[in-house]
Amino acid sequence: MAEPIRVCVTGAAGQIGYSLCYMLGSGAVFGPDQPVILQLLDIPPMMTVLQGVCMEISDCAMPCVREVIPTDDPAVAFKDIDAAFLVGAMPRKEGMERKDLLAANVKIFKVQGQALDQHAKKSVRVLVVGNPANTNALICANFAPSIPRENFSAMTRLDQNRAQAQIAQKLSIPVKDVHNVIIWGNHSGTQFPDVKHAMAKINGTDTPVYDAIKDDAFLKGDFITTVQKRGGAVIAARKLSSAMSAAKAACDHMKSIHIVKSRFVNMDLYLEGEYHSFSGLLYPASKSTSHIIFRKWTIVQGLPIDDFAREKMDATAKELCEERDDANEVC
Ligand code: NAD
Repeated sequence: MAEPIRVCVTGAAGQIGYSLCYMLGSGAVFGPDQPVILQLLDIPPMMTVLQGVCMEISDCAMPCVREVIPTDDPAVAFKDIDAAFLVGAMPRKEGMERKDLLAANVKIFKVQGQALDQHAKKSVRVLVVGNPANTNALICANFAPSIPRENFSAMTRLDQNRAQAQIAQKLSIPVKDVHNVIIWGNHSGTQFPDVKHAMAKINGTDTPVYDAIKDDAFLKGDFITTVQKRGGAVIAARKLSSAMSAAKAACDHMKSIHIVKSRFVNMDLYLEGEYHSFSGLLYPASKSTSHIIFRKWTIVQGLPIDDFAREKMDATAKELCEERDDANEVC
């Protein structure tokens, strides 16, 4: 077996962390031959719960898990890490304004950015899941100037997976036969799930999704709102927010960084200017490796953007700019 890599999960005592730890330990992300040292961070009042999670990881008897380090100290959690899943965030409390939630969370990500800067490997790949994920990722990167900016990204993969699944269901095809779905912008109600460039395999042939579905009103209406509102629909049914699917998406996201596929992968990167949006639309380059595991990315260039898409992209970009300005004010 290879040398172990160090992987940090923050908010590890929470519901996404619970699923994520299992997936990481099972080899589903870094492969069955890659041992991992799990460095699990949560806040002091959650240490007993975190101990319980550690007991369960032990009881899973997973060959990939070399060591588990539970802690409430970011300096310990981020020490020499190769990958970070920043899931931990303050939940919205009753009566809390969106702005107050944003302020509380960007402060957490400021501190964690500083701790990453000091303690993590410079090659660390950081995935921000905790909401507002896009803005938290920006703040985290801003406060970790010694780590390359492109190593930070925010999770849009859950929205991508939701959109792919909706299209697959509509066409009654396996989800693996739908690709190049795009999620533009913020992980919020303004996000724009876009299948203008997406393909579906129909009878063995890659076909544009618009041609396969032949229902523009659906693709520009119900499809978009279903994906935008899916998180709320899960909460309404489960009385808890998405956790299994969020953990799976986080794993897919990190896996996409080290497994090469010539397909679009959505992860928000804050690249101002690209398609006049803050959304990073990426696919992995097939050659250059900067690290034993992780690969570099290039941004898909030259996609034609029509007026319908432009309007939606501008709306979500505007929201991201407002969030960014509010966050900078707090910091
Ligand atoms: P949860 O409340 O079950 O768990 C969050 C955990 O984070 C808790 O254990 C809490 O103690 C911990 N935490 C809080 N502050 C922390 C800090 N400063 N350092 C370390 N840990 C801290 O929530 P969850 O369901 O696991 O969701 C976690 C976050 O992920 C939320 O912000 C949620 O909105 C977000 N989320 C994002 C996506 C996405 O697609 N980007 C999808 C689902 C959920």
